Amino acid sequence: MYYVSTRDRLQKTTVSGAIAYGLAPDGGLYTPEAIPSLAGSALETLKNMTYQQRAVYIMNMYLDGYSASELTGFSAKAYGGGKFDDPAVAPVRSLDENTHVLELWHGPTCAFKDMALQMLPHLLTAALRKEGETKTACILVATSGDTGKGALEGFKDVPGTRILVFYPKDGVSEVQQLQMTTQEGANVGVCSVVGNFDDAQTGVKAIFSDPSLRAEMAERDAFLSSANSINWGRVLPQIVYYVSAYCDLLKAGTVVRGERINVCVPTGNFGNILAAYYAKQMGVPINRLICASNRNNVLTDFIKTGVYDRNRAFYNTTSPSMDILISSNLERLLHLYTYGDADKVRKYMEKLSRTGRYEIEESVKKRLDRDFSAACCDDEQGKAIIGRLWREKRYLMDPHTAVAMDALEQYRAKTGDEMSAIVVSTASPFKFCPAVMESLGVKAPEQGLKGIDQLSQLTGIAPPTPLAGLAGKKIRFTDVTEKENMVKKVREMLG
Ligand SMILES: *Cc1c(COP(=O)(O)O)cnc(C)c1O
Repeated sequence: MYYVSTRDRLQKTTVSGAIAYGLAPDGGLYTPEAIPSLAGSALETLKNMTYQQRAVYIMNMYLDGYSASELTGFSAKAYGGGKFDDPAVAPVRSLDENTHVLELWHGPTCAFKDMALQMLPHLLTAALRKEGETKTACILVATSGDTGKGALEGFKDVPGTRILVFYPKDGVSEVQQLQMTTQEGANVGVCSVVGNFDDAQTGVKAIFSDPSLRAEMAERDAFLSSANSINWGRVLPQIVYYVSAYCDLLKAGTVVRGERINVCVPTGNFGNILAAYYAKQMGVPINRLICASNRNNVLTDFIKTGVYDRNRAFYNTTSPSMDILISSNLERLLHLYTYGDADKVRKYMEKLSRTGRYEIEESVKKRLDRDFSAACCDDEQGKAIIGRLWREKRYLMDPHTAVAMDALEQYRAKTGDEMSAIVVSTASPFKFCPAVMESLGVKAPEQGLKGIDQLSQLTGIAPPTPLAGLAGKKIRFTDVTEKENMVKKVREMLG
């Protein structure tokens, strides 16, 4: 199976090419030419497997040129060996008979990015070998908080790679910042950018298309690669947990074979919910995909009206990993909904970069309506739901998950559709202690690391080990840069 650029059908590559180089030369995103489907009995087979085995089975369907034994090794390294603090890796918790939470934050950085970023370095280094690439891969990451730490953990001390992470100076939580600035490893770098996530992401994209830097890198036997969710190697491991969650519900008898469910995802760059769409197209019985946004509700408006318009105020919210106005992975969905019409997708994307706005045509909108619903909620609504679920169910959730929970409730109230639903939980509540404690009624909660102890005492829940361990770590990175000077930092990394 080949992978094609969303902006030019003739830009074709193998999956290892797509993963090794991240972005197509024309700026498009590599997308599989066809979506493989799960055979009728596949879910029954997968039901009795471990998470690691399910990952091998699903990823193998997309990864021509990778052997099953190779993938088995990657899966054991990524998801085994005590890296995740729950043996199920991505456990499903049921809050009531039709509301289930898929917890994706049991990995080393306590956010869902680990699900893909623990796997990506294995897929990427193998892809480089398969492509005959001997240069050092310099991974550049723009992060709204969680990707940065996830990528640093995944790539630290991986031979043949270096990694540099840019995060918005005032756009991440204190715990997120500490997680990154204390990162260990000889091949890592971390730098904050004056501005918001979109500034950092735009800066990284500009570095990728800087021809003089490209030449300099080639001279030094290096090239740029990406660990952002524009890389197919990020999306693919995320498909696995949707299949896995359905299998868990089947196994528990919560759903019967073929029974459809709704899935509600707290969304930023559209990578997570895109993986859910792929799972649905592969044959997981998913009814509707509910796209949940915070006050930065570009996607809610887009899904309701067909107009994508980033010309609006940007808000810093208590769910910072969703503070995004340009959702890069939406481009892959447009590719699918236009049946691979690269001219159309390219026009939308050109309009977006020129005017900040585009409108999809009627036929594309109709397809969108068949699969997606959307809702948004602000910080106050989020707080209310965190407090209520703690009081009523003793279930503690983080502000990102709360956005999804609220969106599901809005969807149910509006449509009366009470079908079983999975709410995707993307971060441990201990990553966002002050906001969570305010939701539980604490006035003036402790900030930073002290907040972790306070939340733990308040709830009787032990914090995840990686967060509890932050207190003893030394701060290694304090660099700040203006967005115009990000490229200098890349040059410094080259030495
Ligand atoms: C990255 C992130 C999101 C958004 O996911 P996308 O794939 O960018 O849509 C939501 N919640 C948390 C905690 C995240 O880290």
